[in-house]
Amino acid sequence: MYTLDDNDFHPESLMMTYGYNPEWSEGAVKCPIFQTSTFVFKNAEEGKASFDYMSGRKVLGPNESAPLSYSRFNNPDLEIIEQRLKLWDKAESCALFESGMSAIATLLLEYLQPGDLIVYSSPLYGGTDVFIKKFLSKFNINVVAFNNTHSAEEIVKIARECNLGRPAFIYVETPANPTCSIIDIQEAKKAADMLSTPDFQVVVAVDNTYMGPLWSHPLDHGADFVIYSATKYIGGHSDVIAGAVLGNDDKMARVKKLRSAMGTMAGPKTGWLLMRSLETLKIRMEAQARNSLQIVKFLQSHPKVEKIYYLGLIDEKHPQYEVYKRQYKCAGAMVSFDIKGGEAESYQFLNSLKLIKLAVSLGGTESLAQHPASMTHSGVALEEREAMSITSKMIRLSVGIEHYEDLIWDINQALATV
Ligand SMILES: *Cc1c(COP(=O)(O)O)cnc(C)c1O
Repeated sequence: MYTLDDNDFHPESLMMTYGYNPEWSEGAVKCPIFQTSTFVFKNAEEGKASFDYMSGRKVLGPNESAPLSYSRFNNPDLEIIEQRLKLWDKAESCALFESGMSAIATLLLEYLQPGDLIVYSSPLYGGTDVFIKKFLSKFNINVVAFNNTHSAEEIVKIARECNLGRPAFIYVETPANPTCSIIDIQEAKKAADMLSTPDFQVVVAVDNTYMGPLWSHPLDHGADFVIYSATKYIGGHSDVIAGAVLGNDDKMARVKKLRSAMGTMAGPKTGWLLMRSLETLKIRMEAQARNSLQIVKFLQSHPKVEKIYYLGLIDEKHPQYEVYKRQYKCAGAMVSFDIKGGEAESYQFLNSLKLIKLAVSLGGTESLAQHPASMTHSGVALEEREAMSITSKMIRLSVGIEHYEDLIWDINQALATV
């Protein structure tokens, strides 16, 4: 077998074979679904070693792997998909979860304790927002928000002056859904370093679901963790819910330990589905990005479109432009726009689409449209929503891999009915 050290292959060249040995399964070229809850030990000594590694009593050497014992701790489908996901972000370690939310929840629960403060970038994905504000608050964990206008010094000031606890965790989601505003990860890291003390490190996690793992690599910009809802681009076919957290070995060891304790890991079938998905990750995402660019060009010239939210439209003179260029390789495949009018016009448009489906979620092969103000972001207080320009005239598109002329035809005919 090759190793990355022998040959610095591109990640897309390794998505079909890396981490899997056909000898494990009768020479099958594809990794099967290891649909088993438990694994037979060769002998009692191996059984003992397996538990010694799992509990941390023994530490694995380089290129060593713990004997398989039980699928809550480990499973080949889980391990292989983790090996492959690591390649995109050049991360030391990856943990796969049964959903993006279980990934986020496990990470936060491991790194927080009562009396701690989460400093988060606003706006957040709805599920994350609910988890930190409604659930973690029960354990005396408080939150305070910052946004894309704040520098590291200002983030530190917000964290200290709110007097809501020990700053412990900076949680960043960028670009923001559905407005595409960008948080500077390096500023967040700088703030975390300023808030850290010799015996307590404030960690930074970045939810990279919108742009990853192809177009942005937050670990390169100083993040300690990168989070994915693998339900979106990584899964890419809108047929599986999954999540992942990546980071260095030391920090991820804690996350994996809690995952084993709580059972938030992904099952073998989820791992297997994601293996199939990762083979086409790059070509899918690139096709989606190309289509988005065509759609944006069309929307720009349409008289019923008032404003477009798309990373590729940030003006070169805007302060966010430099951050955009530094953090992202591409403008992505999420496009939001304001239609002239309000809810009635938005609904008329959405109800008239023929090829594009009216649904939430994103990153799949099929194009989807939705109305953030009354759907994904309806839980956000009206004032807050308006401040973020998520109004009743906003439509969000997740652009798929169809022929762009067909997508534009559909958008055009739906706009014509408004
Ligand atoms: C979908 C999503 C999540 C939650 O992931 P699930 O797989 O639905 O649990 C978290 N963050 C972002 C940005 C998302 O889009």
